[in-house]
Amino acid sequence: MTAHWQEQVSLKPYNTFGIDVKARYFAQVHTDDEVREALAQARQRGLAVMVIGGGSNVLLTRDVDALVLHMASRGRHVLGDGAGCVLVEAEAGEPWHPFVQWSLQQGLCGLENLSLIPGTVGAAPMQNVGAYGVEIKDVFAGLTALDRQTGELRDFGLEECAFGYRDSLFKRNPGRWLILRVRFALSHQLQAHLDYGPVRQRLAEQGVQEPTAQAISDAICSIRREKLPDPAELGNAGSFFKNPVVAVEQVARIRAEFPGVVAYPQADGQVKLAAGWLIEQAGWKGYRDGDAGVHRLQSLVLVNYGQASGAQLHGLAQRIQADILARFGVELEMEPNLY
Ligand code: FAD
Ligand code: NAP
Repeated sequence: MTAHWQEQVSLKPYNTFGIDVKARYFAQVHTDDEVREALAQARQRGLAVMVIGGGSNVLLTRDVDALVLHMASRGRHVLGDGAGCVLVEAEAGEPWHPFVQWSLQQGLCGLENLSLIPGTVGAAPMQNVGAYGVEIKDVFAGLTALDRQTGELRDFGLEECAFGYRDSLFKRNPGRWLILRVRFALSHQLQAHLDYGPVRQRLAEQGVQEPTAQAISDAICSIRREKLPDPAELGNAGSFFKNPVVAVEQVARIRAEFPGVVAYPQADGQVKLAAGWLIEQAGWKGYRDGDAGVHRLQSLVLVNYGQASGAQLHGLAQRIQADILARFGVELEMEPNLY
């Protein structure tokens, strides 16, 4: 089947910042054949292609003079069960959180800490999504992607994806790989990760003595709902900046002036600074300029109060970056993909 192309489509419903820009062409794709055909037609017409899933990690600063391909493929199933590992596969267009809940309903553990992350399965490997001490690389079993340069299908294993902190081969090569489906190695046995942030404390408050994967998921959902703005109510793309990873000496210099700096030692000897703490110290928490602002509870999250443009939000982000560099000597890197 051929995907139906629409012209001059507002992308407001397709990005969680709620930015109202237009796509020159827009098509929803449900199958590998529809993806291939849409890419071939775009090539024939000399059109650029932008792939979008849930639009929860993009900042759109202008109309998109391209074909926007909206990933709408569906399907999730168990591929195999043995040797303590259950192999599960999901199509790229599957919404992430319902997929996590489905895996828990199958009695499978591994994705519980990644509950309530917006977006799609296909975008999750892009930045190796992570939360509460777990990243998808920890349960990743492989993916199938289409090489947009050659049209060939390729399977990627863990090593080939070069996952890093909010990073991957796919993020570093924008426009090259279109992820079609992703596989995960889950387990019937829970390996609980409770030592991150307030997870253990929340479970204790809820009277949970021996947590199940579902109980951990529920606790994480309740923490996230308290702290993070729901994009359906207030436009945002989650954390706007990555937590900077810096040398120990730099942390020592910052600590001499700011003893309360929040810093987490990493396995490689470097130190991860909480970007939200730096931004809060600099006085940006709750800041608002027109409809572009910094969330009042979590300063790592930029928000759109209604009519902010992508350029206004980007401008605010650049002012914050310049201020943090001047005060702490730390460069903040944007997390969402900028268009
Ligand atoms: P999109 O925004 O649609 O796309 C992101 C990028 O991936 C774009 O460059 C796009 O072109 C590309 N892309 C999308 N689909 C494909 C595909 N199939 N093949 C190739 N490229 C593709 N992130 C975390 O890591 N941890 C969190 O805890 C977290 N919490 C969040 C909370 C909130 C409230 C919000 C709004 C965001 C949060 N995020 C978090 C960020 C975001 O949800 C994730 O990065 C998510 O994986 C993005 O998925 P998406 O489908 O919305 O991607
Ligand atoms: P938080 O718990 O207030 O923690 C603040 C920061 O400190 C986080 O960014 C986290 O880094 C870091 N941190 C906390 N405990 C840590 C530990 N034990 N070891 C190492 N680092 C630690 O953060 P939050 O904003 O409420 O988010 C909770 C989790 O959800 C975090 O993992 C966060 O990354 C994730 N999240 C991500 C997004 C996104 O868009 N990327 C949005 C919302 C939430 P890390 O970010 O490196 O984990």
